[in-house]
Amino acid sequence: MPLSNDVVLSLKAVPIFPDKCVVCKQTPDTYWSILSNRTNLLFTFLLPVLFLFGFKKTKVPICKSCKKVFVVNRTLRFIITLAFPIILVAIFWNALDDMTRLQRRLVILIGGVMSVIPAIVWQVFNPPAVDVSFYDDNKEYEFKNLEYAVEFAELNYQEVVKVSFEQEAPSEA
Ligand SMILES: [Zn+2]
Repeated sequence: MPLSNDVVLSLKAVPIFPDKCVVCKQTPDTYWSILSNRTNLLFTFLLPVLFLFGFKKTKVPICKSCKKVFVVNRTLRFIITLAFPIILVAIFWNALDDMTRLQRRLVILIGGVMSVIPAIVWQVFNPPAVDVSFYDDNKEYEFKNLEYAVEFAELNYQEVVKVSFEQEAPSEA
């Protein structure tokens, strides 16, 4: 169950954002460039490589004070995503010596799966104000704030493929 309000636009759409800071809704005075990286968790690890290929960016209006918080949040998430597997390897490194080849593979496999969990948990419980994912035939804009998401959907109504709002009333009985 996603903890965000999602607006899916067609791939060719040029998104129009409300003239409000995506976090505090004050008048925005700068932009925040979002790299789309959630289509595949592996992308998080490959980000430095993707930069080289001009990976897709989306400019979102934001005010300067919120941008600072946003940068800190993103950086923390990135560090947690990277640090956890490294810590796991460090802990098990010595133990690996005493294991059979099969046990070792098993530990690496389990460790690999476990290592993405903190990133997912972080994402679910501390969603950024906005995130963008590109797919093969559409792109998804995920907003923490319902009001902002609704406004965004209205501004881009011609290109909206689908919306899914978390706080929407439950479907009729
Ligand atoms: Zn703001």
